[in-house]
Amino acid sequence: MVEGSFKETLFNSIKNLSPDDREVFNRIFKVNIVKGDLAVPPAMEPWVISQFGSVSAIENQIIVKASNLITYEGSVFNDLRSKRPDMKISLGETFDYKCGSEMFCSPLNNTPEDVFGRIKGKYSLTASNIAKIDGFHSVIIFKDHNPLDFNAEKIHDYFEVANSYFKKANEHNKSFVYPFFMWNCLWKAGASITHGHAQVTVAKDVTYSKIGLLRSRSLWYQEEYKSNYFNDVFNVHHKLGLGFMVEDVKVMAYLCPIKERGITIYAKSFDGSLSFAVNSILRTLVNKFGVRSFNLIAIPHPITPTYESWEYMPVILEIVDRGSLETRHSDFGSMELYAQSVVGSNPYDLVKELKSEIMR
Ligand SMILES: [Zn+2]
Repeated sequence: MVEGSFKETLFNSIKNLSPDDREVFNRIFKVNIVKGDLAVPPAMEPWVISQFGSVSAIENQIIVKASNLITYEGSVFNDLRSKRPDMKISLGETFDYKCGSEMFCSPLNNTPEDVFGRIKGKYSLTASNIAKIDGFHSVIIFKDHNPLDFNAEKIHDYFEVANSYFKKANEHNKSFVYPFFMWNCLWKAGASITHGHAQVTVAKDVTYSKIGLLRSRSLWYQEEYKSNYFNDVFNVHHKLGLGFMVEDVKVMAYLCPIKERGITIYAKSFDGSLSFAVNSILRTLVNKFGVRSFNLIAIPHPITPTYESWEYMPVILEIVDRGSLETRHSDFGSMELYAQSVVGSNPYDLVKELKSEIMR
């Protein structure tokens, strides 16, 4: 029972925290257990056993609820969620490269460029997004058709191209200062084109709302407790066995992930130096967990100083698994949109595999 062990591992780890660490844990996180009982009629037993492993697993369920009391992020963990029956669709030839994107397979002739031209790297180049979500919004088109053909050298290139883009956009118009990087890998993650690509935006006047909320709440925490929120979050994860360092990058299987296998990274800067850690994490997701579709985002610091304080915040990266390409249902329902994310995977399983890949 994965989540049984998640509950046990987590509660044992919390119990073993030093009094100081537990105080910090308790002011940021609330974890509680809820039992969900039901009765399986005899006629259902064969199906329940084949689908979920045992009748008792269904009749006596353990649900772990984790909440962040500062940001009000939260997750509900129950591994039975990942064993539910679902409607499969046949991928046929839609995902096997046969890429077929007229625009991205030959971008120089078939995509618009920005008013300041294109940024060209060894493995990628930029194109101006044809339907923009901000004043500066462009696509980093990978040379590879298949977005899963990444490696550390290529990720280094994508991140450096993004950085050059941010600088160029800001040079072109100094009022655009808030950069954002996103990689929606394949359609479950929101990509409308399968050919490998990431996206970059730069915003003006005010940062994006969810980033602004995190900045504001973490600043409140710092003023209230005279302690850095991000240092405390990482230290607590480290002590619970959910966080570790890769060089000077902090990696966590976050306790309140937005969805399956949510990984949060705190770094000093957003650039190619992150490529080893990010590649190792993505490779683990793909090779060990069969992930094909994921979101990866980065929140670099403003390109030039703003009226707000940002220096206490790390550069933040988030990665999340968006589920099988072959299931018809969306991984996000009403709970995720309006209440609290529901997660079937065990963060300790994730950390174990990440560490074995990265530390080998
Ligand atoms: Zn292509």
